[in-house]
Amino acid sequence: MGHEYLYGIEIADAAKCDMHHNTPLISTIVVGLVLAFVLGLVAQRIRVSPLVGYLLAGVLMGPFTPGYVADQTIANELAEIGIILLMFGVGLHFSLKDLWSVRGIAIPGAVAQISAATIMGWALGWAMGWTAGKGIMLGLALSTASTVVLLRAMQERRLIDTERGRIAVGWLIVEDMAMVLTLVLLPALAGLMNGERASNGMELSALAWPLMVTLGKVGAFVIFMLVVGRRIIPWLLHYVAHTGSRELFRLAVFAISLGVAFGAAILFDVSFALGAFFAGMILSESELSQRAANETLPLRDAFAVLFFVSVGMLVDPAIILREPLPLIATLFIIIIGKSVAAFAIVRLFGYPTSTAMTISASLAQIGEFSFILVSLGVSLSLMSDRGRDLVLAGAIISIMLNPLWFALLDRYEAKKKAAEEAAATAAPADEAVAETVAEPPKEPVKKKHARVELPVSALTGHVVLVGYGRVGSVVGASLKQSGVPLLVIEDNPGCLEKLTQAGIEKITGNAAAPGILTAANLAAARGLIVAIPDAFEGGQIVAKARAISATLPIIARAHSEEEIAHLKHHGANFVIMGEQEIAKAMIVQIGVASV
Ligand code: AMP
Repeated sequence: MGHEYLYGIEIADAAKCDMHHNTPLISTIVVGLVLAFVLGLVAQRIRVSPLVGYLLAGVLMGPFTPGYVADQTIANELAEIGIILLMFGVGLHFSLKDLWSVRGIAIPGAVAQISAATIMGWALGWAMGWTAGKGIMLGLALSTASTVVLLRAMQERRLIDTERGRIAVGWLIVEDMAMVLTLVLLPALAGLMNGERASNGMELSALAWPLMVTLGKVGAFVIFMLVVGRRIIPWLLHYVAHTGSRELFRLAVFAISLGVAFGAAILFDVSFALGAFFAGMILSESELSQRAANETLPLRDAFAVLFFVSVGMLVDPAIILREPLPLIATLFIIIIGKSVAAFAIVRLFGYPTSTAMTISASLAQIGEFSFILVSLGVSLSLMSDRGRDLVLAGAIISIMLNPLWFALLDRYEAKKKAAEEAAATAAPADEAVAETVAEPPKEPVKKKHARVELPVSALTGHVVLVGYGRVGSVVGASLKQSGVPLLVIEDNPGCLEKLTQAGIEKITGNAAAPGILTAANLAAARGLIVAIPDAFEGGQIVAKARAISATLPIIARAHSEEEIAHLKHHGANFVIMGEQEIAKAMIVQIGVASV
């Protein structure tokens, strides 16, 4: 949507008078991050989700509490950057095939859930004596989940690459598109919803045109990305990777994600989130996608925190005392009503209970789209200030409660697992079968220890080789020739093409980074060769590998006696010192002495 819909038109008014500072951007970022850090830490200490701390930091910085008041418009824009980076990251893990594969459930699911929430909102509005239009508006605002909250929950649980993760993300994309349409149609529908009678069928044509234009623009954007973006973007990233500059590569990733999202919003009127998702998805087919994802992680996390701060800023905490009952009813719709609807739909489609519970839990909250909708609703007289306050308070409380939902889910899964184990090895669980039938999962992904959203290699009895430079490439070629299954971990994208040409399975990234060795399925490997020159980093890799397997043979590379001791201390079985081997070869060559 265009930038004029950035949520908080109203709130900016309330906030601006307090904004005396002449560096509002810096103070919003700094105070936001510092307060979020302090309160997030406190939340962690008292064992609640840090999200609660971030949201409270926002409340403290907001216009409804005394003291410093940050600039809401700036906070919202920063939050949008968080959404862009998150959606780009999700796109990187998502291929068009993945998206297509969940259409059967995601489209009817999202449509049914939006309808259910809208009906419930209308009923609540009716109970409070509102017009039907205002009630429907309330329901619509309660119907879509927050991208940031959903993705964070999924990423924390490493569910993004699983089938339920794909369903949840597909569902989210459909909701996103539905909201883009709603935002476009609302102005045209406002008269009708406000109870003004239709005269000579004007409304229909007033609706049909914006609908067609919007669908046309979304379609044009998708086609543009698939035809033009698909060629240019991966090429650009490869080109930059070959320059060997880490800095330029990082810059390219940010330029592509932010640039496409912004361009999509300006040129095609699609949301930032949708634009970023497509940019990521187009890159997901590229070998560099993993590296691109890693590059965005730190900024993505920082901006996601600012997102929560900006949500907190919108809320007037006094509403809890002012309107307890309507607030409870609003929360009921968000947390229970929508979940029951989602659960029923997912089960109806034959998916297992655990999948249905994950989808329900991830959608049992509302966020950025609701804020955009309420500010538009207020400006179209389709929503009262009271309705807006209810939605905002419902958002913050449902986001705070969301981790509890997942805790319940964890408990359910633990119980189920215990029951399954108790039922011994007899028949395979029905649900596991159902999940396999619904869509053959990439089995290794489901392994409990999968980390950093990386799929685990299916290789077993293989050699894992770290580094494919002067040493590693020689070792690799020889192993390949002798038919030993091989997996290479290499963090220099320049080597990737060589590996692809040689038909060797590879993981791009630093072997010392969390999750990489696990993704190489080290637990099932026959050995590990650490062929990198830096023994300090080598030591870290060896120690991590040793933690995964106590018996795995590990061979490492060193350049001095100290390095040999260091590597052995961390668990290497054999350490080859390059200089010694050079000396030995020289002695053999000269032919007058023996080694
Ligand atoms: P060489 O010294 O020519 O054998 O090259 C060492 C290779 O190891 C280079 O291609 C590096 O990119 C790669 N490398 C160095 N450190 C790591 C690491 N921590 N993880 C993965 N690959 C690495």
